[in-house]
Amino acid sequence: MRERSLQLLEWYDVHARSMPWRVPPADRKAGALPDPYGIWLSEVMLQQTTVAAVRDYWRKFMGLWPTVTDLAAAQDADVMAAWAGLGYYARARNLLKCARAVVADHGGVFPPDHDMLLTLPGIGPYTAAAVAAIAFDQPETVLDGNVERVMARLYDVHTPLPAAKPELMALAKALTPQERPGDYAQAVMDLGATICTPKSPACGICPLRDDCMARIAGTAPVLPKKTPKKPVPVRRGIAYVVRRDDGAWLLETRDPKGLLGGMLGFAGSDWSDDPQPAPPLNAEWQQLDATARHTFTHFHLELTILWTRVPGNAQPARGHFVPHNDFSPTALPTVMRKVFDLVADSLPFD
Ligand code: SF4
Repeated sequence: MRERSLQLLEWYDVHARSMPWRVPPADRKAGALPDPYGIWLSEVMLQQTTVAAVRDYWRKFMGLWPTVTDLAAAQDADVMAAWAGLGYYARARNLLKCARAVVADHGGVFPPDHDMLLTLPGIGPYTAAAVAAIAFDQPETVLDGNVERVMARLYDVHTPLPAAKPELMALAKALTPQERPGDYAQAVMDLGATICTPKSPACGICPLRDDCMARIAGTAPVLPKKTPKKPVPVRRGIAYVVRRDDGAWLLETRDPKGLLGGMLGFAGSDWSDDPQPAPPLNAEWQQLDATARHTFTHFHLELTILWTRVPGNAQPARGHFVPHNDFSPTALPTVMRKVFDLVADSLPFD
């Protein structure tokens, strides 16, 4: 067991991926320590999102709010706008809650212990283990999709996911070393992301190839097995795009409790099998000859787009007009940006 973790660490010493939040293994050996705030931020951003997509967002956040104290003091709307496009907006709300809890309850210093990290808002078992291991070099076991795949192949586990998780966690735990556990956690993730990839694992250059049971059995490409997913339902809705004669756009802040809670967007109906019309003002609506489509975790959404122009004295029942010069489509969540892009492509708006 120990041998495998050493092989992996030796491989990581040479092949570690470069990431803006990561301390490279040579620097770490020389005593450099990662910034726990930066590690926590990267881990929250990386949930459900790829490293490539996260890099620029991470740099932006670290530029705007270089410490957890800065982030805790930020305006909610500024953080939500900076997060726009990363998706899964509950993460951004929890990010703020967690930063404020670290400042209020821990003096602005992330606790170095897995169990104390778990008490913070938005930090679940995975993130607590990742921050404890990577930021504080604690021998915690990190089990993300990459690590699950590596373990399932290394031990030729055919139980389908998610039922296989406890078994894969036990195997991953047994491999976690007491020395350099932070680098080891990153090494397994890197192996899964670059060599033990989902479709065509590059077993020929893998540091674990001699011991890998799935490689020997020829089953690596079909592992891990997964329980087939249920078909994703389709929900429908209506987005109301209103432009005032002076160029201002009607936007509303969404209910903080629902999907995309607290984000800015166009006024809309409910999202369901049978959405009920909910125009924000009385007007002559025209339907755009295009549908905005977006996939959330549990459903596909199809938005019909109705648009109108209104005079300067229009009084909407919901939302507020944002002057054209203050309107930034990039601050909208992705689904709303899709609506905007379709409108911008199709309408004679200047
Ligand atoms: S030998 Fe192949 S299947 Fe096994 S861990 Fe390495 S890349 Fe993955």
